[in-house]
Amino acid sequence: MATSPYVVALTGGIGSGKSTIAIEFAAHGIECIDADEIARRQSAKGGAALPGLIAAFGSGILDASGGLDRAAMRKLAFADDAARRRLEAVLHPLIGIETEAAIARARSPYVLWVVPLLFEARSGGKPRYDRALVVDCDEETQIARVMKRSALSRDEVLAIMAHQVTRKERLALADEVIVNDGDLEALKAAVTRLHEKFIALAIDKSNERL
Ligand code: ATP
Repeated sequence: MATSPYVVALTGGIGSGKSTIAIEFAAHGIECIDADEIARRQSAKGGAALPGLIAAFGSGILDASGGLDRAAMRKLAFADDAARRRLEAVLHPLIGIETEAAIARARSPYVLWVVPLLFEARSGGKPRYDRALVVDCDEETQIARVMKRSALSRDEVLAIMAHQVTRKERLALADEVIVNDGDLEALKAAVTRLHEKFIALAIDKSNERL
C-alpha cells in the first residue's frame, strides 16, 4: 500500500529566499511543489479555477491572454477583504487538491512544499505537513532584495508585507528556521544540514508505520 511521503512546508515572507532555498533542496534530489506555480497554472487560460473566478468576479478579471489578470486581481484583493475571501474560496480548495496529488506522486525521500502563505488565513483544503521550515531574514534585507528584483517601490513592498504574518508570528510557528541573512554559500550549507535532518526524520516516520 502506498504511504504518504514526509512533507516539509517551506514558508517565509516576500523575498526571504524561498525559491533560492527550493533550488538547493532540488539539487539534493528533493521534489519541490510550488503553491504559487499551481495557483498560476490554475488561473491561466484553460485552468481549473478560471470558471469559478469568472463566476465570482465576472469576465472583466481576464487579461488579453484569456487567463486571470493577476496584477488587477492582486490589487482588488489587497483593497477589498471580501474580494480576497472570494478569491481564496475559489482557489484554495483547488490548489489543495492538486498539491495533495503532487505530494502523493512524489518519489523523493521527502517532499518540499513551497507555500508562501502557510500561516495566513486559509479557506480550507490545505494539505497536511510534517514540519514547517521558516526562512527568516532581516526585514530591511527582504525589502532590498525585492526592490532589486522587481519594479516595486519600498512602500509597495511594505504593503505586501503588511498582508503577511509578522516575522515574530512566523517564527513562533516554525519547527525549523533557516536564517538567510548571509551569503549563498552559508545558505547552501544550512540546506545541506537540514536535508540530512529531514532524511532522518522521514526514515523515522516510515519506521513508525512498520
Ligand atoms: P517571493 O516570496 O517573492 O517569491 P522568495 O522568498 O522566493 O520571494 P527568492 O526569490 O528566493 O525569495 O529571493 C529573493 C531575491 O533575493 C532573489 O533575487 C534572490 O536571488 C536573492 N537572494 C536570496 N537569498 C540570497 C542570499 N543569501 N544572498 C544574496 N541574494 C539572495
